[in-house]
Amino acid sequence: MENNIFIWLIPIILLPIFFGMGWLAARIDMRTVLKQAKAIPMRFYKSLDAVIDHKTNVAADTLQSIIDEQHETGQQIESYELALTLGKLFRKRGENDKAIALHQKLLSLADTPEEKLQKIQFELGQDYQSAGLVNRAEKQFEDLLNSPLKQQASEILLNIYQQDRDWEKAIEMVSNFPQDGISQQFDLAQFYCELAQKALIESHLDEAENYAQKALYINKKCTRANIILGDVEFKRGNYAKAIEAYTTIEKQNYAYLTMVGEKIYDAYDAMHKPEQGLDLLIGYMRAFPQLNLTNLIYEKLLLVWDFKKANEITANLIRINPNLEKIYLLTDIAMSEGEPSLKTDADIIKKILANQINKSFMYQCKHCHFKSQVFFWRCPACGKWETFTPNRIEV
Ligand SMILES: [Zn+2]
Repeated sequence: MENNIFIWLIPIILLPIFFGMGWLAARIDMRTVLKQAKAIPMRFYKSLDAVIDHKTNVAADTLQSIIDEQHETGQQIESYELALTLGKLFRKRGENDKAIALHQKLLSLADTPEEKLQKIQFELGQDYQSAGLVNRAEKQFEDLLNSPLKQQASEILLNIYQQDRDWEKAIEMVSNFPQDGISQQFDLAQFYCELAQKALIESHLDEAENYAQKALYINKKCTRANIILGDVEFKRGNYAKAIEAYTTIEKQNYAYLTMVGEKIYDAYDAMHKPEQGLDLLIGYMRAFPQLNLTNLIYEKLLLVWDFKKANEITANLIRINPNLEKIYLLTDIAMSEGEPSLKTDADIIKKILANQINKSFMYQCKHCHFKSQVFFWRCPACGKWETFTPNRIEV
């Protein structure tokens, strides 16, 4: 019986001990926190405040004074982290020379571990890039391709190569450091298309064909490769083959047919069959009314058929899917057959419509919504490939 009472009493006896241990643990923890807090100079919070208030000059000066002080007292570890932050601040403020000097100084310090040296080198590469010293930036990042920072370095290098239009190096980089699947295949095919385009301009037709075939092998939906293959055959005088390459785009992505409309007509025309070319384009417009082919069709109809027939066919096409741009053409057609006395009014209407069309019909990047009157395979704003709408759209 006595033993049983003792067992019941154990938890009650131990309770104050548990409390004591908890209190002690909390105190030890609090002491650590307080010690760490004391290690952070008050000026650090001041610099943080300045960053939040967008006073980056105050933040940079304050951080610099902390680092100088820590160097004097031999606190290298803390100053390393702060120096990296200061470097980023300098770069953000456009003070690239200061960022470069700071990182170069850090690199020259003795006894810095390899891992830290690589991080400093990565920052220095970004300083050079920001200062427009691309060759020096490339060197820094290329040195890091065998380090733990290789993925980040390869991504930046890939960007640099694309800006430099150095497609061979870009292809090599993608092959050595593959990133995410589908989008990279898109990009890689475009790099080959860039090489093919260059060869085509220089009339190296076999080379252009080879590169375009490589692009197609990587991305069988690459419409640009088919445009180039068509151009190669056109230049060789193989018009039927050119038409075959251009029309394959219908199966790849019909929206890009707008880009080959005139080429298709020219190839048929070169074979003395312009009517067939026109029939094909009219068929495309009926099947895909969003294509920007109406003006081209009207222009070519006037070459092949009489005025009345050209007007009739075009007006019927416009009625399938009218928009402001097509209404402009319809007004033109209607007025061309109307009373001569209405010409002045028609000109006023056309002028107003033309103004509105120029403002509201553009190519647009589907990724960053950048708008332009000119089509780009690579968006100049966000650097993405094949994000531009191949037809001008109402924006
Ligand atoms: Zn974009």
